Amino acid sequence: DTTPPAHFLRQIVKADQDSGKHSKIVTRFPPEPNGYLHIGHAKSICLNFGLAQEFGGECHLRFDDTNPAKEEQEYIDAILQDVEWLGFQWAGKVRHASDYFDQLHAWAIDLIKAGKAYVCELTPEQAREYRGTLTEPGKNSPFRERSVDENLDQFARMTAGEFPDGTKVLRAMIDMSAPNMNLRDPIIYRIRHAQHHQTGDKWCVYPSYDFTHGQSDAIEGITHSICTLEFEDHRPLYDWFLQNLPVPCQPRQYEFARLNLNYTVTSKRKLKQLVDEGHVSGWDDPRMSTLSAFRRRGYTPASIREFCERIGVTRSDGVVDMGMLEFCIRDDLDAHAPRAMCVLKPIKVVITNYPEGQVENLALPRHPKQDIGTRTLPFSREIYIDAGDYMVDPPKGYKRLVPGGEVRLRGSYVIRADEAVTDDAGNVVELRCSYDPDTLGKNPEGRKVKGVIHWVPAAESIECEVRLYDRLFTAPNPDKSDTGGGFLDNINPQSLITLTGCRAEPSLASASLDDRFQFEREGYFCLDSKDSTAERPVFNRTVTLRDSWGQ
Ligand code: ATP
Ligand code: MG
Ligand code: MG
Repeated sequence: DTTPPAHFLRQIVKADQDSGKHSKIVTRFPPEPNGYLHIGHAKSICLNFGLAQEFGGECHLRFDDTNPAKEEQEYIDAILQDVEWLGFQWAGKVRHASDYFDQLHAWAIDLIKAGKAYVCELTPEQAREYRGTLTEPGKNSPFRERSVDENLDQFARMTAGEFPDGTKVLRAMIDMSAPNMNLRDPIIYRIRHAQHHQTGDKWCVYPSYDFTHGQSDAIEGITHSICTLEFEDHRPLYDWFLQNLPVPCQPRQYEFARLNLNYTVTSKRKLKQLVDEGHVSGWDDPRMSTLSAFRRRGYTPASIREFCERIGVTRSDGVVDMGMLEFCIRDDLDAHAPRAMCVLKPIKVVITNYPEGQVENLALPRHPKQDIGTRTLPFSREIYIDAGDYMVDPPKGYKRLVPGGEVRLRGSYVIRADEAVTDDAGNVVELRCSYDPDTLGKNPEGRKVKGVIHWVPAAESIECEVRLYDRLFTAPNPDKSDTGGGFLDNINPQSLITLTGCRAEPSLASASLDDRFQFEREGYFCLDSKDSTAERPVFNRTVTLRDSWGQ
């Protein structure tokens, strides 16, 4: 049975459809274009698009673009790309909250005419004082007494650009003693003389999030407006606007717990700080928690969707282990990624008894279980193996090459280490080995060779760069720092290891950006989409073969 378990939102949507309350489910994903999408957004995307898909409805993509100062076209483009990459398609055109600025403005005037909104000139400090606290009621602004006509005139002049930023706001007149602070005459319009990426300089007053969101939902016929728990106590305000305005329908807001992932941050503000201060190379630095970073690192959309399904949807906050995400990508890549060999720290091996000039083209399966063909590896007298696969004083249980010992070369012969050539500092620079010609595809006579190591041909292998990533933060909760300095204190200085002079098997010369590989014994890798060139391939390690964190 592949039917996913019915989390509470699935149950609500199903009940609404079964009862005929809604004939068609309409959801939306409403990002603010003030940064790149992160793994937390993936949870919301999978939930909103997933529910629409599952129940034969539709999901809108709507940019929540009411704050022109922080928003940019670059972010809009990145968000569109990320949603499509995750495998979802929005219904109809891309929408913007700013598409509704005319309607929202007209509704603000309706509220003024109904005596339910007023222009207030308290300074921010005064407004804070009048607002009261959680335990004390607020008090009415003196501007609450303004007449409808004066309010209409003031709002018209705000809109016409007569006043500087921050001097006046339009507030809904609700209840300054409401226990829910959001109902204490919330701001619905503010003055902001700023260029907007969609509406240019048409407006110098912009609606607040609260005044925009529910009404945009209503305009679009959203049935289930799903957001994270921090909006729970905005819901009475969401409902208040819908009840006090002539909106075409009454959407309902539901909240779920946001995704928190350990060893990382999922806040656009913090991610932007990492970029702006140069702690990472950009929003798509493969160590970031953004979707563009996961894409560049080699994560598949399917693995992220699977992760979002596995973590479930609840109303209680928790922290998900990064290991769960890694499990999902490992599982996917183990099943699908072709195998290849790449030697990260090469030392040359000369097989002294192998005839000079002879080459055998060995065919190795691309995958141990999938029938996806073979690749060719030329075997001859000189090969590379990894420096870590030869030790003079091996620890107990070491199954690789030791002086006088034998090991199997993956898909090839058994070799024995006869002699090590060292440099002045005593480092092994070359091994001289002999091979047993009777061991291709069969066990040697009369002895057991346990170890199998990877290798590449010296002449035909290609030089490449390999980037190994570790977690960007050393603490499970990066926001909690011992020194009180914040999340930047917990940056892992060893989160990126760049290896140059690595040697990849020749079949990798034709790798494309969409390919993903298991480099045997080293992990899963893909080409880096930014820095890799045909002459200088750069491979990113997506994830290790096993969960070795903390070992
Ligand atoms: P940030 O704090 O990173 O700026 P945000 O909530 O302000 O996040 P939005 O662009 O407003 O970012 O988010 C779009 C949608 O994605 C919202 O519905 C929001 O609730 C949801 N979302 C954001 N972060 C998470 C998260 N960590 N887990 C689940 N959903 C999230
Ligand atoms: Mg938001
Ligand atoms: Mg935000």
